[in-house]
Amino acid sequence: MNRFEYFKEISGSASVLGEGWDRVLEASLIVHGHLCGAMPLGFRVGRLALKVLGTEREPNMSKVAFVETGVFHAAGCFADGVQFATGCTYGKDLIKKLDYGKWAVTLALKKDGKAVRVSVRPEAVEAMFAGKFMSERKRGVPPAEVNPEFILEGFKKTISRPDEEILEVSKIFTYNFSPTPKPSFNIVKCEVCGEMTAENKMRIKEGKKVCLPCSEYGV
Ligand SMILES: [Zn+2]
Ligand SMILES: [Zn+2]
Repeated sequence: MNRFEYFKEISGSASVLGEGWDRVLEASLIVHGHLCGAMPLGFRVGRLALKVLGTEREPNMSKVAFVETGVFHAAGCFADGVQFATGCTYGKDLIKKLDYGKWAVTLALKKDGKAVRVSVRPEAVEAMFAGKFMSERKRGVPPAEVNPEFILEGFKKTISRPDEEILEVSKIFTYNFSPTPKPSFNIVKCEVCGEMTAENKMRIKEGKKVCLPCSEYGV
């Protein structure tokens, strides 16, 4: 069985989460690339945040996920689970890493700031770190090279348990968004390198319209 077929098979465990969630999980695994402990926890947190706010997986640009994991720690994969479940993706600039090294996300709606913070219960984080998968990762084995059997049971459990067993939900509150500029739909050709560039990222240097790298100005 190839990797993608394997991902399809194990995604069936998410069907208990409701219609379509097994397909979202399958897509998440394909994009993420491997089975691990943190991605499914982020997936559960993201899904529950949507449910509590009474909103759908983001098709446009109308909500933002503030994820508390960050860089230089063992479970950065959590953020991928959050973005795949919520649809608040990196490319849409709808996911921000707060880098607290904590397994939680605040999801906020842009229109009125309605927000909720969902976190993983300490026992569930501890259980992930106590597993065989994490000890393999600790001794330097890349995630896709760890025997999938070492994580499979934990993965299926994470994806199928009732929300209240693994997750904690805050009261709904209001998040204050700072105003942001409107996106530019205009494109300009850099007069030095000739590459197309979004107009609002262009600079003027010696009378020429140039892209940022050609300008050698800071961003
Ligand atoms: Zn991962
Ligand atoms: Zn240029």
